[in-house]
Amino acid sequence: MITTQPLNFIDGEWVQPVEGAVMPIREPATGDIFGEVADSTAADIDLAVQAARHAFDNGEWGRLTATRRGRLLSRFAEVILAKADELAEIEAKDTGKPQGVARADIVALARYFEFYGGGADKLHGEIIPYVEGYHVGVTREPHGVTGHILPWNYPAQMFGRTLAPALAAGNATVLKPAEDACATSLRLAELSMEAGFPKGAINIVTGQGAVAGAALASHPGIDFMSFTGSPEVGQIIQKLCADHFINCTLELGGKSPQIVFADADFNSAIPVIVKALIQNSGQTCSAGSRVLIERSAYDDFVPRLVEAFGKVRVGVPEMNLDCGPIITAKQKRRVEGFIDKARAQGIPVLAQGTIADGAPAGGFFVAPTLFGPVPRESEIAREEVFGPVLVVLPFDDEADAIKLANATDYALVAAVWTRDGARQMRVANRVRSGQVFVNCYGAGAGIELPFGGSGKSGHGREKGFAALHEFTKTKTTVFNHG
Ligand code: NAD
Repeated sequence: MITTQPLNFIDGEWVQPVEGAVMPIREPATGDIFGEVADSTAADIDLAVQAARHAFDNGEWGRLTATRRGRLLSRFAEVILAKADELAEIEAKDTGKPQGVARADIVALARYFEFYGGGADKLHGEIIPYVEGYHVGVTREPHGVTGHILPWNYPAQMFGRTLAPALAAGNATVLKPAEDACATSLRLAELSMEAGFPKGAINIVTGQGAVAGAALASHPGIDFMSFTGSPEVGQIIQKLCADHFINCTLELGGKSPQIVFADADFNSAIPVIVKALIQNSGQTCSAGSRVLIERSAYDDFVPRLVEAFGKVRVGVPEMNLDCGPIITAKQKRRVEGFIDKARAQGIPVLAQGTIADGAPAGGFFVAPTLFGPVPRESEIAREEVFGPVLVVLPFDDEADAIKLANATDYALVAAVWTRDGARQMRVANRVRSGQVFVNCYGAGAGIELPFGGSGKSGHGREKGFAALHEFTKTKTTVFNHG
């Protein structure tokens, strides 16, 4: 049985929300309430920021060497792996994703702490040759107190993706999980103490975006913000940060193209293409949600894609099928809105997956849907659905493929499927995207690989060493030894 207490984790302690308000949390697979969490206000955020500030300026955390911080992160990775079954159960219940997927997410979460634990004392500075008689050193310093606002789609992985580099770099942190999926973050707060983190290094405050989230981004004690979620809220966050002159990273989603040329190996491409959309029920910022297929191969490729897509099965976490429900009733309505509108526009449905028998009627299930051929200007071809909806668009030649791939406001991830090596390079170079995969998609969890987009996909980089750079600022020190 999973229990959650409506408390915040501040300065190493569980504390009541100042105004005492709580909000329910629901299980997407059944629609049932399974606990409640604190519905925090600006007063709770203020307490958390004060705790982080103290930890950074005067506490044990701020005095730790990079090596000791790295060891703590590595120990946290071990604690997480030791509790992987329990954490996966919480994550699956809170998000509805298949248990096997939730467990893989917990392993990836641990890997974030392992990777950045190893990176903490390898963030070196540089010496710059300068004018005669001077010696110049450039070092990297933490920002101070960093704020983190999480989405609901990968709560466990996102906890590691944003907190691990921030902590490795030496920042003290305040994290607000998404109101629709915060149970794993609360359990991780507890486990961070088991790992030995000094109080105030990690603070977790639950609450609604417009109240607790906005209070965090606008708090004058926050030195840097990390946000993942919708473009609309990303814009709000950036404006709130601008009001107090701080920077932020925004990771806001995508409409990522899978560009398939006629010479591609369809047998290896198709299962990867289906999985790249269907994993997490399409609720993935980097979902490969547009298939661009060379027109000359359309009649060969599409029936094979239809066959694979039609086999997708949706169910509750315990069934361990291809994917689970949508996170909330509101998001389900949003996804169904896209599907209904596309149907009403006469866009053909090529295939649909099935919702397994036994899936509870109250669960937020949506049948995966494949549309094609989709008009280039239609909403479903250009906007992020954030659900199990895949669209197929034909293109004429390489130039047309690049034009079509770049014809959205997003630019996060892309894939090129072709056996032609020169074409692989040309297309990868010209597609507007933060990551490009060639004859693969999202290989591995990608923790070591810089990740992030431009345009409506946001800005800044997560993962890899790039994230350590985001969570630090340079200091240039000039010595006159003449
Ligand atoms: P959202 O952007 O509203 O919520 C994301 C986070 O931002 C949550 O923690 C939320 O509490 C917080 N938030 C909301 N309003 C805020 C505000 N005014 N100030 C500060 N923080 C605020 O996303 P959503 O409504 O949960 O989902 C809507 C859409 O967002 C989805 O359909 C999808 O397109 C997109 N989304 C993208 C990602 C991603 O990984 N890029 C993740 C989740 C959702």
